[in-house]
Amino acid sequence: MTNSPDTSLNRIAPELIDSFGRVHTSLRVSVTDACNIRCKYCMPENVAGFLPQNRLLKFDSIDRIVSVLVKAGINKVRLTGGEPLMRPNLWELIRRLSKIDGLLQIALTTNGMLLSDQIDRLVQSGLTHINVSLDTLREPAFQQISRREGLDLVLQGLRAAVTSPLNVRVNALLLRDINLQDCLPLVEFARELGVVIRFIEFMPLDANRSWSQSQVVPGSEVRQMVQQRFGRLIPSDSTDPSQPSRDYLFEDRVGGIGFISPVSEPFCSSCNRLRLTADGKFRNCLFGSQEWDVKCLLEPTDGSRPCTDQEILAIAKACVEKKHASHGISKSDFQPPDRAMYQIGG
Ligand code: SAM
Ligand code: SF4
Repeated sequence: MTNSPDTSLNRIAPELIDSFGRVHTSLRVSVTDACNIRCKYCMPENVAGFLPQNRLLKFDSIDRIVSVLVKAGINKVRLTGGEPLMRPNLWELIRRLSKIDGLLQIALTTNGMLLSDQIDRLVQSGLTHINVSLDTLREPAFQQISRREGLDLVLQGLRAAVTSPLNVRVNALLLRDINLQDCLPLVEFARELGVVIRFIEFMPLDANRSWSQSQVVPGSEVRQMVQQRFGRLIPSDSTDPSQPSRDYLFEDRVGGIGFISPVSEPFCSSCNRLRLTADGKFRNCLFGSQEWDVKCLLEPTDGSRPCTDQEILAIAKACVEKKHASHGISKSDFQPPDRAMYQIGG
């Protein structure tokens, strides 16, 4: 058996459909669990260790998986982590993905620290969209949240993104006791840059298991604060029902704002996402407890034959078929997943 692609999978037809009829078109690929900062809503202060190089899914394998899944209906890939820009030569993976027919978007979510150095190469390689995470404009608060210095680097990276051809968004996460006061300055700043800002609610995915409802700032509360300061928010016509964000325009049409509210307003019924962890496991939900190992098929260590495209698709389909109706955060018996956000891929 060779490693060459199966010709039987040469057309695009939605095949990643779960038992509730949700069609999966978006794949989140984590390329590393390593990170250069330690956000308290995601990572522990002291990490025992990150995955060694040989446990990370190779670029060849990611490229192959994406090629197979695009033929099954995936049209958007988001690269994430950990901090994806810490994966050496990430641009090379993007270059390969950009050659896949039918893949409409290659997006990246980053903390921005390494962005200004890499942006030119990322753009040249075919990246189309970028989300930069920014929770505050105050260095002391940045250090309190991320346990590292570096707000200047993030801002430098964000400014480089804004002057690039990429579609740019800012992701902000508010913790009630730490950076609620940053909400309006962040909105003001995003409007100055002319980019959309999205507020994401704090989810029970932190490694410290310190999540508490009292720290969550509901999207509705942020929306009210923003309307009081900036005037009426107009629901955006372009809101895609499969997108988790509820997007709005400002009356003056400068910038834009969105709210991702998985805790207060779950959007599971329209979820179209499949996830691939940095160590090569499919997951059907951030909060799922089950994973489907595809690395062992693509990179066998026991001398067994390389897998076929049909086998890759079969494991992705098995994962999607087992997806639950909802994440169940608000249920009394909810158990957070074993892995934290940086280990799954945000
Ligand atoms: N390191 C990159 C970054 O921070 O943008 C990419 C990975 S990070 C896990 C992706 C996104 O997940 C970030 O925007 C971050 O704010 C968000 N995130 C991390 N932990 C979270 C949590 N417990 N609840 C909600 N969002 C979280
Ligand atoms: Fe790193 Fe992103 Fe997690 Fe922050 S949210 S610790 S930047 S992976």
